[in-house]
Amino acid sequence: MSHPIFRRIAGFFLPAGLLFVVMVVLAGYGPTATRLGALADIYFYVALIFALLLGWRFDRSLLVFSTVVIGLAVWLLNDYGNRGDAIGRILSDVVAVLLPLNLLLLSVCKERGIITLHGLLRWGVLLLQALLVWLLFHFKRFDWLGLFDTTYVKSLWLEELALYQPALLAFILALIFSCYRAIRHPTPLSSAMFWAIALLFVTLLQGHDTALTSALFASAIVILLVAVIEISYSMAFRDELTGLTGRRALNQALLKLGSRYTIAMLDVDHFKKFNDTYGHDVGDEVLQMVAARMSQVTGGGRVYRYGGEEFTVLFPGKGVDHALPHLEALRESIANSGFTVREKGRPGTKPEQRRKGSEKQVQITVSIGVAEREGELREPEAVIKEADKALYRAKKGGRNRVAT
Ligand code: GH3
Ligand code: MG
Ligand code: MG
Repeated sequence: MSHPIFRRIAGFFLPAGLLFVVMVVLAGYGPTATRLGALADIYFYVALIFALLLGWRFDRSLLVFSTVVIGLAVWLLNDYGNRGDAIGRILSDVVAVLLPLNLLLLSVCKERGIITLHGLLRWGVLLLQALLVWLLFHFKRFDWLGLFDTTYVKSLWLEELALYQPALLAFILALIFSCYRAIRHPTPLSSAMFWAIALLFVTLLQGHDTALTSALFASAIVILLVAVIEISYSMAFRDELTGLTGRRALNQALLKLGSRYTIAMLDVDHFKKFNDTYGHDVGDEVLQMVAARMSQVTGGGRVYRYGGEEFTVLFPGKGVDHALPHLEALRESIANSGFTVREKGRPGTKPEQRRKGSEKQVQITVSIGVAEREGELREPEAVIKEADKALYRAKKGGRNRVAT
């Protein structure tokens, strides 16, 4: 049901792909572009201002710069491209080439701030392009500007499209590359960037219409904006090290529990000793391994990182009898997973000894304490306390075991 591949596909299409479809359908079958009229402009400015403010407050330079680039494109296309003269037309073709290339360039850059040195460098690159284009027009270098609307490949089909071949090539490159990135590094923003570029492409392919450009380019901004909100949401609920949902999500889940549920508390055995022997980094890797195993727990268990090397498995609607075999299986899968430590040698030994290192298999085990809601134990907090007591018994009883 929640197979990783389905989750990946869903992550690629939701919500950015859905927004893309809704916007395209609305533009095509909804109110026609002329009826959109002033509404499109208002929508555009609201999206623009909202994205800039949010990008600034959340320190998301990609959102800020992408919004600026898309906003500039709308301004140039609608105010100059629409005049119908030769200069306006060439300017539209220049914008159609630079737009996807700039977005592509921005999306491969790391988040490095908006008015930091890296941020200023990006502003500089944008400014430089504006200056170059202005100079080309000012000195009437139509030999150079002509490069943007030349037909390089003879094809009747291509010539019927509303975009010239340089822009087509730029968009197709940007689409292929952003799609590849969305698949290789699946994040809400990487897939949103693909869908945003796709929406800009579809808009320009429909020919030029002021209201339609405002509305659909604004929607491309909204697609990126939604992705940033989504990332911020998951940052609040997800633990960065293990990728599991964290304590905040657990607290929310506890509020939604019904009259029957089971809670298991899980603690890594002798983790302190492990940390002291192999170092904190290796300890972190162990936590990641344990978390990966835990996320495969069966029986409808939901997994949270409670804190440190302690985890919680919640079985809503289920009793202890149901949960036990699944927790046993989980404990066993962790104990059998085998963890390879690359010993770098202790600090203080000679560097060459440290680099050489040696590999060593160690066994990681966990102890689990389980309790269900029953009798006196009516509140989740009380059930967690009871599970903690059971966990203590599991430790006392020799570790690597499940206790009730
Ligand atoms: P026991 O079997 O009784 O649980 O022994 P233990 O050594 O695991 O004891 P305890 O639970 O007190 O140890 C917790 C240790 O976990 C202490 C701390 O150094 C380590 N720890 C907590 N959070 C992290 C983390 O995020 N990363 C790493 N590497 N270590 C952590
Ligand atoms: Mg502990
Ligand atoms: Mg421990």
